[in-house]
Amino acid sequence: MGTFDVAVVGAGIVGTACARELSAAGLRTALIEPGVIGGGATAAGMGHIAVMDDSEAQFALTRYSQLLWKELADRLPADGEYLPCGALWIAADETEMLEVYRKQRYYSQREVPVEILDSQSLAEAEPNLRLGMAGALLAREDAVVYPPAVARFLASEAQHLGAELILGRRVATIGDDAATLDDGIRIRSRSFVVANGAGAPSLVTGLNIQPRKGHLVITDRYPGFVQHQMIELGYLRSAHAMDSDSVAFNIQPRPSGQLLIGSSRQYGSDHPAVDNAVVSRMLQRAFEYMPGLRKLSAIRAWTGFRAATKDKLPVIGLCPGRENVYLATGHEGLGITTSLGTAKLLADLLLNRTPAIEAAPYMPDRSYALHG
Ligand SMILES: Cc1cc2nc3c(=O)[nH]c(=O)nc-3n(C[C@H](O)[C@H](O)[C@H](O)COP(=O)(O)OP(=O)(O)OC[C@H]3O[C@@H](n4cnc5c(N)ncnc54)[C@H](O)[C@@H]3O)c2cc1C
Repeated sequence: MGTFDVAVVGAGIVGTACARELSAAGLRTALIEPGVIGGGATAAGMGHIAVMDDSEAQFALTRYSQLLWKELADRLPADGEYLPCGALWIAADETEMLEVYRKQRYYSQREVPVEILDSQSLAEAEPNLRLGMAGALLAREDAVVYPPAVARFLASEAQHLGAELILGRRVATIGDDAATLDDGIRIRSRSFVVANGAGAPSLVTGLNIQPRKGHLVITDRYPGFVQHQMIELGYLRSAHAMDSDSVAFNIQPRPSGQLLIGSSRQYGSDHPAVDNAVVSRMLQRAFEYMPGLRKLSAIRAWTGFRAATKDKLPVIGLCPGRENVYLATGHEGLGITTSLGTAKLLADLLLNRTPAIEAAPYMPDRSYALHG
């Protein structure tokens, strides 16, 4: 096998995007995955490519990534299902409308195309919403994709660019010049990128990342029932709750006509089983926003684990105390969106190039500082 310049651990959307970027930069790259490519959180996620504004750093990475997705869109295979449907942030009442106005100002100042919909325009745009919603913010450049197919595409691009895929093996430890696999084989490499999502703390001692369980439900085919990705503004409260279980209305149209309904967030549950009580709460919330959903058939529910950091930003860059280990994990509920920006940033850091966005907010040392 020889010696690699860089070995990427984990072939989710983040690892495959990193492997593709590093191979494109001419590095001899290995990509190591024990299971199915894109079969981890990537297969469980919703695939909403979202611009977000919890913090300037979150905005910078999501917007940078969203523009990279737009560039990539034409080259994605059909099963990547890139759909530039836009997203509606739904305000149920006038208090939530204040957040719509704030977001509109924030995004407009940063040249992100957004639009305010009043109650009537919202009802016309999405007739299946409950009547009487106060309005919404339309984020025009939000899109949706089918994440596992995109991960497969990114891995195959990496392979065409010369990367070697090492499948069916798990990395057990990472040393100074080699990673040891679960069968004892050593993969020699100058650098390593830990991109195994919620599994990262098992390879990197002291890394403060917690699994945050989420449920999704998919319906049978109902073409035209929903036109946009839609999220209640209360989703932001749900995403911010750090210690309690929460659900929020979040729905996505799939090109197949199916509807993906979310979402839930739970800490302290590391079992992947579907929790019917949580699904029921999640669906009740969805019915409050879209009563007509009650009549549709759901065909499957599943769970996945988001890799959550304390400050809700991913960790991207050199691992403290290591000279050759880089981290690309901790993306919580935005790892599909930010995979492309993460890969660019990571490659820039590894190759001492100047990144397009400031790298400091994502540096891993802060995750250690935030321990506890
Ligand atoms: C319910 C839900 C909804 C979501 N919705 C969205 C959304 O709409 N938009 C969005 O942007 N994000 C969303 N996310 C978040 C997104 O899915 C994740 O942030 C993203 O998939 C993380 O990708 P990853 O490559 O870091 O991790 P993963 O996809 O988990 O990949 C990690 C890979 O590493 C492998 N691995 C583990 N241990 C090892 C080891 N020791 N050696 C080698 N390989 C290993 C695993 O097998 C796995 O394939 C959602 C998540 C959930 C759970």
